[in-house]
Amino acid sequence: MDQFISLLVVILVLSIIFFLITREFWCWYWKVNERLYNLKQIESYLKTIAKQYSKENAVDIVPEHELTGKVAKCKECNSEIVIQEADTDQGYFICPYCGIRNYL
Ligand SMILES: [Zn+2]
Repeated sequence: MDQFISLLVVILVLSIIFFLITREFWCWYWKVNERLYNLKQIESYLKTIAKQYSKENAVDIVPEHELTGKVAKCKECNSEIVIQEADTDQGYFICPYCGIRNYL
């Protein structure tokens, strides 16, 4: 039983070492490097577009997941409301003071 366990450990360690040595090959083979490069390119293009859009329309584009927990002002009564996750899901929040729907 002890021999079996030590054999398993040796096989596991060798497999990990083999994977680490051939990692670059598998990343190339499954085109992981290319996909990562393309995603970074897309991200940079989107950031450029968002920046340009923000400048032209004088708005701030903030990703939804970064909005949760932030404070927004109601456009009607100017009271400050903390944005909840449900608000970002539906794309707006309803002011508890005046009942006006504010889009994010
Ligand atoms: Zn309000």
